[in-house]
Amino acid sequence: MMQGTEARGAPSTHEFIAPGATLGVMGGGQLARMFAHAAQKMGYAVAVLDPDPTSPAGLVAHHHIRSGYQDAAGLAEMAQCSAAVTTEFENVPASSLAMLATLAASRPVAPGAAAVAVCQDRAAEKAHFVRCGVPCAPHALVESAAQIAGIDASLLPGILKTTRLGYDGKGQVRVTGRDELAAAWVELGSVSCVLEKLLPLAFEISVIVARGADGVVVHLPAQQNLHRDGVLAVTRVPAPDLGAELQATAVAAAGRIATALGYVGVLCVEFFVLQDGALVANEMAPRPHNSGHYSIDACDVSQFDLQVRAMTGAPLVAPRLHSPCVMLNLLGDLWFDVGREVEPDWASVLALPGVHLHLYGKAEARPGRKMGHLTVTAVDAMQADAVARQAAARLGLEVW
Ligand code: ADP
Ligand code: MG
Repeated sequence: MMQGTEARGAPSTHEFIAPGATLGVMGGGQLARMFAHAAQKMGYAVAVLDPDPTSPAGLVAHHHIRSGYQDAAGLAEMAQCSAAVTTEFENVPASSLAMLATLAASRPVAPGAAAVAVCQDRAAEKAHFVRCGVPCAPHALVESAAQIAGIDASLLPGILKTTRLGYDGKGQVRVTGRDELAAAWVELGSVSCVLEKLLPLAFEISVIVARGADGVVVHLPAQQNLHRDGVLAVTRVPAPDLGAELQATAVAAAGRIATALGYVGVLCVEFFVLQDGALVANEMAPRPHNSGHYSIDACDVSQFDLQVRAMTGAPLVAPRLHSPCVMLNLLGDLWFDVGREVEPDWASVLALPGVHLHLYGKAEARPGRKMGHLTVTAVDAMQADAVARQAAARLGLEVW
């Protein structure tokens, strides 16, 4: 089983925010909901800021501030009621995080605005990887039609991605030649983009690290991820195709990336492993990540526990994977059978051993919408895989 690199016994030198305090989270989706569960388990109250009255986290929080992310009154209320504030998605404007930090001068906002700003911008993100000595895909900025003529031919075929606001395969187009590139840039709204060379992937992994205000870094074991249509479908831990040496390289790279940002909180770095065995950083998220949901049921400290610990100044101890596992994402498509809305047969999957069902409390299922996930834990990876395949078959999910 994997261990974090730098566990330590000494208490944090930073002021510890004790249970009983209120912890704030910007955004009310499923990540904030699972954060709230972890915080509440430890005795904290939770405040969620999200305009949606039925947001998954708003439904379970002690306080739901229903305002926009840049609303001055909402931000002031958040700062007033919270002992510390974190964020559940990177597109909370960095200016809002900066404003929160000034409104609550003595209280931590983790991660900080400057670190989040790097994660919001694919070009800045790649520059940061390179600064940390971590390879990324060959790429070039595309900010005008004129630039397209001068793009190095070695970057084609490639993937054109918007510099900002892309997620789950949205905001990107695959292109083979220069004409397609020009059309794709217009299709994406003629906004600032990054063209990346299309790389020959063998498989994809991600590494989640948590860094405390005192600089201690711990990590979860690397997870192997399968995407379908740009959306995460299956995560397996331990990563079946990842050797120990490459895993150590990826973990060390993720730690360097967090440390060089002066990062406080949970950070996920996605990597490609190429067909020649090379490791390439893809992108990072300044928060818990869909690929880390398995840690709730398969590790003794989950990514959400780490988020609570990092923001409260609690000691970060190395998480331990206690059960090999497979996580399956449950997208809204599951609720539709030949166009008719049906409730998936949960009882049939709950009859299988080691199945942990998580549903996010979203009122409406829509194709592609993340509705929940299911983690199968077992004594060994073979059994976890076998049961997960049975669960997938019972739900009508495509098998890997
Ligand atoms: P998103 O923000 O939507 O997750 P990513 O940059 O992670 O965007 O790209 C989504 C997926 O597209 C990746 O997980 C990978 O499968 C594929 N992909 C992205 N960039 C490349 C690349 N340069 N070469 C090959 N495949 C890529
Ligand atoms: Mg991605």
